[in-house]
Amino acid sequence: MDVIRLDDKERMGEIISCLEKKFTIQRHRWVNDAFTLLIATILSQNTNDRNSSRAFQALMKRFEVKPKVLAELKPEEIKPFIKCAGLYEVRSRRIVVISKEVLQRFNGNLDDVLKLPLPEARRTLMSLGGVGPKTADILLNFLGDKAVMPIDTNIFRVVNRIGLVKGRNYERTRAVLEKLIPPEKLREMHLLLIKLGREICRPRKPVCTICPINGLCDFDRGEEFNSRL
Ligand code: SF4
Repeated sequence: MDVIRLDDKERMGEIISCLEKKFTIQRHRWVNDAFTLLIATILSQNTNDRNSSRAFQALMKRFEVKPKVLAELKPEEIKPFIKCAGLYEVRSRRIVVISKEVLQRFNGNLDDVLKLPLPEARRTLMSLGGVGPKTADILLNFLGDKAVMPIDTNIFRVVNRIGLVKGRNYERTRAVLEKLIPPEKLREMHLLLIKLGREICRPRKPVCTICPINGLCDFDRGEEFNSRL
């Protein structure tokens, strides 16, 4: 299929409408507390959804996911419940440390941080140990209703292949997508691009023949750059 050359904003408009038609995403908020989402996000880093979700469910079943509860634990007490997410030594320590920090610095409640103006809220969240831009942006978008685009590894790959962005610089990719996607669509597009990356635009073998945005994508199978993303 011929690649349609539209300016990028127009192209993104088409991409949004194709992805909306192709995929259904759940719109309900399964977590509505910032600290809980923070812990779930820590467990989801560098692991697949199934394992991170199993770890999170196991942790929730055993302990109340509250800063004052988790801060009192030793990492050894957390480890058995989050083992299936992998990296459990590091993660269990991180959970205890971040729980103490949230308790001491914010009295156990991150809601006021999410209400700060975006740059300040982002800076504050990223000052917590182990919180990088992606985790901060997830909290800010999903619970703070901020117009910010969290970028994960699927999104990096997909938007590079489409040809909207070059490289894996987080801030640059975020800035480009926030310019191209209307603010009210950022959350939905975060989820839709991840879905596209997992189900069709897979790391090794993108299934371009069934891709809903095939005609809007620059991907060249011969490009070594793309295959490494
Ligand atoms: S699956 Fe193919 S056509 Fe679709 S976004 Fe990925 S590289 Fe482009």
